Amino acid sequence: MPVHVLVLGGTTEARRLAEVLHTHPDLRVTSSLAGRVAAPRLPPGEVRIGGFGGADGMARWLREHAVDAVIDATHPFAERISFNAAGAAATTHVPLLALRRPGWVPGEGDDWRQVDSLAEAARAVQEAGTGRRAFLTTGRMGLASFAHIDDAHFLVRSVDAPEPPCPPHMELLLDRGPFTLAGERDVLARHRIDILVTKDSGGAATAPKLTAAREAGVPVVVVRRPPTPGGVPEAATVAEAAAWIQARSGATASG
Ligand code: NAP
Repeated sequence: MPVHVLVLGGTTEARRLAEVLHTHPDLRVTSSLAGRVAAPRLPPGEVRIGGFGGADGMARWLREHAVDAVIDATHPFAERISFNAAGAAATTHVPLLALRRPGWVPGEGDDWRQVDSLAEAARAVQEAGTGRRAFLTTGRMGLASFAHIDDAHFLVRSVDAPEPPCPPHMELLLDRGPFTLAGERDVLARHRIDILVTKDSGGAATAPKLTAAREAGVPVVVVRRPPTPGGVPEAATVAEAAAWIQARSGATASG
């Protein structure tokens, strides 16, 4: 019997991990997506879409589908699903690993203001002065935090169009990563951006905007990551997560 791995996804890393694990003959890989994106890039292997119904629902799903291991490769800002995974793993005793790409760190020449929430990020945009041209890359779900700001212009980049409430002066850029440095330089220049707002998502796919901002002298408001459930082992890369599961599948096959 192949070892059944559930990959909680919605990120580039989760898709890459599924691609790597899918080639392993001793593994059966199921990727789980929340269903937020209308036309998601699907990983190879089995895919299920939609919520589980909290930690209890996930625990039920793990039992019903005879899951042997779970890798939480969700986005660092997808807080709830990571706590649900920790809860479900604890009740079912299914091993859980969190694949969390390291956060970004400011380098020489960066002008960062780190904040703890989207609400604080909105305040930071206001405090930067009126008439700002802000590049908002925090995703379409948190736009409500900026909806009251009527003296700034927002360039909002998201995969799907946002729903109201949105800021009154807003231009939409429908796109999805990975993004290139040349492309990000072009966005900042073409839209005359003078402040960038981002979550500390980490990873290479969306990092070029930070380099482009540094080069252009554009200040960056960075939203710090939310807390993670304690006691869950972590991998920082797809290779580390693949090694963890391959070690388990070898152990299971021989034991
Ligand atoms: P969240 O707040 O942690 O999750 C809310 C609920 O959505 C969860 O309780 C769960 O519903 C369901 N859910 C989330 N991820 C799921 C998954 N991979 N498979 C099945 N159900 C899932 O998450 P979110 O911030 O809304 O993000 C949703 C998805 O988008 C995540 O998979 C994440 O990897 C991806 N994403 C998020 C961000 C971000 O900034 N938050 C950015 C890029 C990608 P039930 O309780 O019913 O199980």
